[in-house]
Amino acid sequence: MSTSEPRLRIAMQKSGRLSDDTQELLKRCGLKINLSDRRLLAHVSNMPIDIMRVRSSDIPGLIMDGVCDLGIVGDNTLEEEELERQLIGSKSEYIRTTALDFGGCRFSIAMPEEFEYTGLKCLDGLRFATTYPQLLTRFAKENGINVEFCLLKGSVEVAPRVGLADGICDLVSTGATLEANGLKEVAEVFRSKASLIQRSDALCTGKQAILDTLLPRIYGVMKAKE
Ligand code: ATP
Repeated sequence: MSTSEPRLRIAMQKSGRLSDDTQELLKRCGLKINLSDRRLLAHVSNMPIDIMRVRSSDIPGLIMDGVCDLGIVGDNTLEEEELERQLIGSKSEYIRTTALDFGGCRFSIAMPEEFEYTGLKCLDGLRFATTYPQLLTRFAKENGINVEFCLLKGSVEVAPRVGLADGICDLVSTGATLEANGLKEVAEVFRSKASLIQRSDALCTGKQAILDTLLPRIYGVMKAKE
């Protein structure tokens, strides 16, 4: 095989909530990938595709900067990066090729169980621990309230108990983690799913041809699951 043959580069989460479903999707599309080793860039042996395995939070930037051609990432992570980049005037374009059928969750405000929630206005002026401050700030602005935030990358649920924040704004699926930490969900800020995204500038002819082979397979796998 010639080394100059273009290879489509796909970014996926290395390990976490999206990695198994992403791996399964690519496998069901017929891609033979050896993900057992620790290499950051895994070659697909039967198609001109490389898989780059990274932190989920790095995926939107890799697409927006044109380092990877395709990526699979949660809409929450994607929109947070887009808002953040818009704020600092960095390149934030991408194409959402398709929504995927996994990674569903809500980004919600949760308060201590004893808090008397009477509507969004009663959250005005409060402080929230969150990993996605831009999504929270946009929601607050849209609803005419002011909120403060403190940025936490993990263990967000513990913040009210230790006096770091009045409440939290975090990703929820079943609500069991909230309950276990004495919190109740009071308002949904954003509904998220995984999406397949693509860099906004045109792919070269070779890469476009690979994508044209891959995309119908992705749609086929999703259709088969319905
Ligand atoms: P990384 O560590 O790879 O940068 P992360 O900390 O967001 O990312 P995960 O907790 O594995 O890693 O979550 C990855 C994505 O899975 C989330 O951004 C979200 O889109 C989705 N997700 C689905 N359900 C949940 C949930 N209950 N809690 C958190 N994330 C969820």
